[in-house]
Formats: sequence, structure tokens, C-alpha cells
Amino acid sequence: MMREEVYRTVKNIQHEEHMAPGNPLCAGCGGLLAVRLFHKALGSNVVWVNAAGCMTMLSLYPYSPIPPFPHSPIPPFPHSPIQSSWLYTAFASAPAGAQGVRDALDVLIRKGRISGKEDLKVVVVTGDGAAFGIGLRSTLGAIQRNLDFYYLRYGNEAYGNSVFQMLSSTPFGSSSATTEPTPLFPEGNSGRKRDLFEIWKAQKPSCLATESAFRTVDFLQKVEKSTHINGPNCSYHRLAAPRAVGTTRRKQFASRSLE
Ligand code: SF4
Repeated sequence: MMREEVYRTVKNIQHEEHMAPGNPLCAGCGGLLAVRLFHKALGSNVVWVNAAGCMTMLSLYPYSPIPPFPHSPIPPFPHSPIQSSWLYTAFASAPAGAQGVRDALDVLIRKGRISGKEDLKVVVVTGDGAAFGIGLRSTLGAIQRNLDFYYLRYGNEAYGNSVFQMLSSTPFGSSSATTEPTPLFPEGNSGRKRDLFEIWKAQKPSCLATESAFRTVDFLQKVEKSTHINGPNCSYHRLAAPRAVGTTRRKQFASRSLE
């Protein structure tokens, strides 16, 4: 079967779930849907490596909105709704954490302590705070070392896990917690969005794709194809969820925007 035909329609999507329902993320979060679909396409042998961001909230499971979770019989930490393994790293260093996991797996396979069938796919999952900012150097280093890993960036265009402050992926003309329109800067955010895709491309990863969970079949086809390619697999996910940053004034300044 041609690889493209593995996912021809939504009917081809596996019914098997790798993520339990119920978590503290925003209802309808497109990033969460991307993680769920990504997991389906990769199968169950996965270890997620996460830098601080919205998805870190998945480690608060089972979730109760009433702190400090008095109605939960099990303390929420360190459980997650994800069936596979989860490693939380410092904000700047998820790809470095992925390198450690990959190296450990390779050593175990070489020594015969685990079989090739027990090998895990190593997936970094980060929001824009890590992907565009503090974690970018670590990502470029991992691509440059040709690390065999997947990188899923979900594009929330702000520090979504705090109070939606501006960062280098926030579009021009957006109103965020730190770029409210003022008489001096009526456009709100006067900075230009960093072109992360082109930066990754310049480092020449083995596989590079833009995708959105909103286009489900296309998303799954691309992830499935990437499983046949060794080396850095970078996914630039466009979030299909209500934007965290305000955009109401952006049209007014559209002629000045490079987007
Ligand atoms: S802020 Fe955005 S990325 Fe974060 S949980 Fe909410 S919808 Fe998802």
C-alpha cells in the first residue's frame, strides 16, 4: 500500500486512543488535538519530552479544579492522561532531554537489554515560548547533530500558560497582555513574527512540515510519512483554536504587516 493511502479519509483513523479524557487544558485546544493525533500516527511506543508550556498541564492528572485536589483519591502528580512515557525538562532544554533519552535507548538496544521492537519514538512537544525563544538554540543544536527525534510545535503565538504575554511569534498588530494598544503604539504589538520555519529549514532537518490538526487527514499523512525518515523530524503545527492574543485592531494596520 502506498504510504499516502494509509490515511485517505477520516475513516482510516485508528479508533485506539493513547490519551485519556479530562485534563486542565482549554476546552477545544488545537494543540491537544495535535498531540492526540500525533500519538495515533506514531503508535504506542512513544516517549514525550516536554518543555514548560500549556501541555505541561497534562501532568496534573486526574484533574480537579478545586485546589489542592481534595476530592481526588490519587495525588495528581506525577500522573498524566497519556498512555506512553512523559519526561518534563527545563524550559530551554527539551531537545537536549530528547538527546539523552535517544542515547539511553540506543545504549540499551546495543547491549541487548531491550529489543528493537521495544524501542521508543522520542517526541519533543513545546509551545511557542520554548520553540521560538528560550529553547530555539537547543532545537537547532539537536537538528545540527542529526538527532533522530520528532519535534511538535503547537503554535499558540504567546506565553499561553501564564497570562498571554507577547513573544517573538506574536503577530504584528496583536493585543497581548504586554502589548495592549497605547497612544504611542496603537497597533499593539509593533514587532514582527519570527519565521521559525525558515530558521529550522536553514539547519536542514531530515523532514520538515507545516500542518494543522484541523486538516486531519493531511496532518496524519505527514506524520506517518515522517516515521519512515530517520533524523530530525520537525512539525510546525498551526493551532486550530481560538487565538489567545487579540487581533481586532490588526486589520487597521494590515498594510504595514509582513504576514
Ligand atoms: S492557551 Fe492555547 S495552547 Fe494553551 S491550552 Fe489554551 S488553547 Fe491550548
